[in-house]
Amino acid sequence: MENINWSDLTFGYMKTDYNVRSYYKNGQWSELEISDSENINLHIAATCLHYGQEAFEGLKAFKGKDGKVRIFRMHENALRMQASSRGILMAEFPVELFEKAVVEVVKRNLRFVPPYESGASLYIRPLLIGTSSQVGVSPSKEYLFIVFVTPVGPYFKTGFKPTPYAILRDYDRAAPQGTGTVKVGGNYAASLVAGEIAHQKGYSAVLYLDSKEKKYIDECGPANFFGIKNNTYITPESNSILPSITNKSLMTLASEIGMKVERRPIPVEELSTFEEAGACGTAAVISPVERIDDLDKNKSYIFSKDGSPGVLSEKLYNKLRAIQYGDEEDKHGWVTLIDFKVPA
Ligand SMILES: *Cc1c(COP(=O)(O)O)cnc(C)c1O
Repeated sequence: MENINWSDLTFGYMKTDYNVRSYYKNGQWSELEISDSENINLHIAATCLHYGQEAFEGLKAFKGKDGKVRIFRMHENALRMQASSRGILMAEFPVELFEKAVVEVVKRNLRFVPPYESGASLYIRPLLIGTSSQVGVSPSKEYLFIVFVTPVGPYFKTGFKPTPYAILRDYDRAAPQGTGTVKVGGNYAASLVAGEIAHQKGYSAVLYLDSKEKKYIDECGPANFFGIKNNTYITPESNSILPSITNKSLMTLASEIGMKVERRPIPVEELSTFEEAGACGTAAVISPVERIDDLDKNKSYIFSKDGSPGVLSEKLYNKLRAIQYGDEEDKHGWVTLIDFKVPA
């Protein structure tokens, strides 16, 4: 086996040994198929290419100090992919088959699960696309589910550090009653221009406001948002944000450590009252927010003056990571342990 330099991994793509696939045809999903090819054979008129019938998921597997591999909350990802399918009229992939496929793809690529000490992990990417050939606008009759993996580095190579975010009022990632609540590629396509502008101006990401009134906080492109004040974890309630599994987990942990948890609309001006703020998602768990610049209003909200993350954000981050790597007891049944019997 080639030598992987675990400490040099980024959030990129590296070829691994196998991926797992299932095909939907005549109203039925096929048995899981193991493939060693990185390519698929796709009809030029497939609905995913023309009308955006594509949904995806993202989750991770972690190797513990004990050498065991743990997959975090895959049941939630299975359910969310079904919700995404309902959102853009695709066939729903069965939950049990999703879990079986995820376990299978991890088992078949165990040599790519980074060692505990590296702080890296195995990123798992399930996706679902419409594949039938048609030119008229209507949902596909056939679908392809794929799950592949790739090792990814720790998000914070230089430590857990706050970064700046920007509000760009001329851009929306999702419509008020649109597809913001489902994990579909179209939302990401819609967010690329604003994301690029923010990056060019030196920000990590855009913090989106509700697209109807621009009064309330929605989320940060690919991550949910939370603020902390008075020992309370506060995260937006909105019809156009994606229900983050990381956020859901952090809410549970916050109340476990004695914080209050509120899920409600957050007016933009309330940002000035938060002691800490963060973006949360699978990639980083928590990405602490240093400040938020509301560029069109010439206003800044500052959460970190000395470049260090907030105490409670860091506590929540460490607690969630400890569960993922098996350093702390999995009280909520969030983790699936892979048994090491190598498949014949
Ligand atoms: C995937 C995603 C998140 C984060 O969800 P997790 O389940 O925590 O990884 C947040 N916002 C959007 C728009 C997403 O697509």
